[in-house]
Amino acid sequence: MTINEYAFGGKKAIVRVDFNVPLDDNGRITDDTRIRGAVPTLKKILNDGGALIIMSHMGKPKGKVNGKLSLRQIVPAVSEALGVPVQFAADCAKAAAEAAALKSGEVLLLENLRFYPEEEGKPVGIDKADPAYEEAKKAMKASQKEFAKTLASYADCYVNDAFGTAHRKHASTAVIADYFDKDNKMLGYLMEKEVQAVENVLNNIRRPFTAIMGGSKVSTKIGIITNLLNKVDNLVICGGMTYTFMKAQGGKIGDSLCEDEQLQLALDILAQAKEKGVNLLLAKDTVAANRFAEDADTQICPSSAIPDGWMGMDIGPASRELFAEAIENAKTILWNGPAGVFEMDKFAKGSEAIAHSIAKATSNGAYSLIGGGDSVACINKLHLADQVSYISTGGGALLEAIEGKELPGVAAICK
Ligand code: AMP
Repeated sequence: MTINEYAFGGKKAIVRVDFNVPLDDNGRITDDTRIRGAVPTLKKILNDGGALIIMSHMGKPKGKVNGKLSLRQIVPAVSEALGVPVQFAADCAKAAAEAAALKSGEVLLLENLRFYPEEEGKPVGIDKADPAYEEAKKAMKASQKEFAKTLASYADCYVNDAFGTAHRKHASTAVIADYFDKDNKMLGYLMEKEVQAVENVLNNIRRPFTAIMGGSKVSTKIGIITNLLNKVDNLVICGGMTYTFMKAQGGKIGDSLCEDEQLQLALDILAQAKEKGVNLLLAKDTVAANRFAEDADTQICPSSAIPDGWMGMDIGPASRELFAEAIENAKTILWNGPAGVFEMDKFAKGSEAIAHSIAKATSNGAYSLIGGGDSVACINKLHLADQVSYISTGGGALLEAIEGKELPGVAAICK
């Protein structure tokens, strides 16, 4: 079932969204991107004559009521975004009466789901090493089902539009789906777009496919790199990871970031790339600095010959050119993670060059997917957001999807 096929008229829809928006000390929203992201799905249901029950988590209250993380604070913003009044249910597990009273076109926002430990389904106040932990976990799984069943009882159909939590098997993101038959549960527009974006880079690949993986550590990206080696034509590895690869191959990296325990892993990745015929590109030159600071002295040097006392902070000009060619000739592009310490302008040139190359390739017909907070920030800073194909809203969920893992939030709808 898809949201466009479903007849919402006269029905109550319970919709899981990601309204985990950042708030300042006064409870004011500092970035409403996530609320705006859910609006198309929510308006579609209202315009079709449905009634809306909206649910979300906010922050990490760890199963306890916490006024600072109350969704009551965002009622005015949600109301403004939807252009209708929004009612509030102060206890998400005791909202049956409010839900039952909802009429077509009306909206009820439930309090933060994570005020209940059942949402995440992890036992609280008991250590994993405790012999009673397994029993507590079983009991919690049972009460998680009850909690999900209660939420499900409020509505006729279930829509999941929270991509940010799609990699979690929580009550509201996955377990709840068991209480709706397959004709009454569906993905929202945002989820559909995210799932399609992942499809485009994992299964509907137009070649050549160039993936650019940056960031600080190879250890946190290994799952993705391994899966991408089976998919891509060109794999650009940049950012702090570069120096682990250089050292593994006998290079001198001065004081650059390095994961010494991952040197063998780097060699394995290089060997796998060769075996699979993947063109793996590393930065051959580096902008090195004598301090980790914006006003440090800098020099360009080979990435495998960085003097002692200097550290690699960004890719150098020859690497920018090398990467530009692999990106601009591609028909499918995935970018995750910056090429350098882009938070400092002086070391942002590599990431900016990548962003410009992706925009250029996209204008020539390539499909480009940008994921991860830093790469997205870089695209936004350069005002290139409308010149790439898709910017993912999900950090962890996108990465897990690209690793090839099944997302429980998607699987629960599609099974
Ligand atoms: P990650 O969270 O692993 O995606 O890494 C993102 C971080 O990597 C950013 O904060 C960058 O500043 C950092 N980074 C990128 N290149 C380097 C580098 N050459 N040295 C140190 N940190 C880097």
